[in-house]
Amino acid sequence: MLALQGAFKEHIDKLNELGVDSFEIRQSKDIEQSFDGIILPGGESTVQGKLLRELDIFDILREKIAGGLPTYGTCAGLLLLAKEITNDKRRHLALMNIVANRNAYGRQLGSFYTEAEFTGIGKIPMTFIRAPYIESISIGVEVLSNVNDKIVAAKEKNMLVTAFHPELSGNFLGGHGGTKEQNLAVHKYFLNLVNNC
Ligand code: GLN
Repeated sequence: MLALQGAFKEHIDKLNELGVDSFEIRQSKDIEQSFDGIILPGGESTVQGKLLRELDIFDILREKIAGGLPTYGTCAGLLLLAKEITNDKRRHLALMNIVANRNAYGRQLGSFYTEAEFTGIGKIPMTFIRAPYIESISIGVEVLSNVNDKIVAAKEKNMLVTAFHPELSGNFLGGHGGTKEQNLAVHKYFLNLVNNC
């Protein structure tokens, strides 16, 4: 679990619920351990990108993901993985063939909750917080979910991204959410990717 900033504890809670061992990556020595997959949490992509570089984690992490490490980016994590961000000059790990639009829902729809279909899972709760969406995709990317005609989840080889926060389902905005099963579904989906990569 990348744990430099943002909503990483909530992801760890979901992994614990699923009986999966995890540890926090906070400094460069942490990333030298062996592990089967990594989650890049929501938060601020600019801050996380800066910390990754300052803490000398950036190059090793990029190499590992480029080498096939199963990786799940939530929200800011999606922005870290995007090759293109239309409304930000910064680029970070830039490994996934998606064009992301940052803070894409504007002020009024800054944070919202909805339920929508996710390929291979069914209808699930989705919590959006100053979220990006995926404006376009290119070679190798599979779209997994759309909300209001915008792509909000996708997969490319070892990389999974969601614009929404499944780690907050069930314990955010007054307990919005679906069943326990639905609230663990995206993490389970990622674990399948980890097992099959
Ligand atoms: N707005 C944030 C960014 O630009 C992402 C928001 C989130 O991760 N919840 O990085």
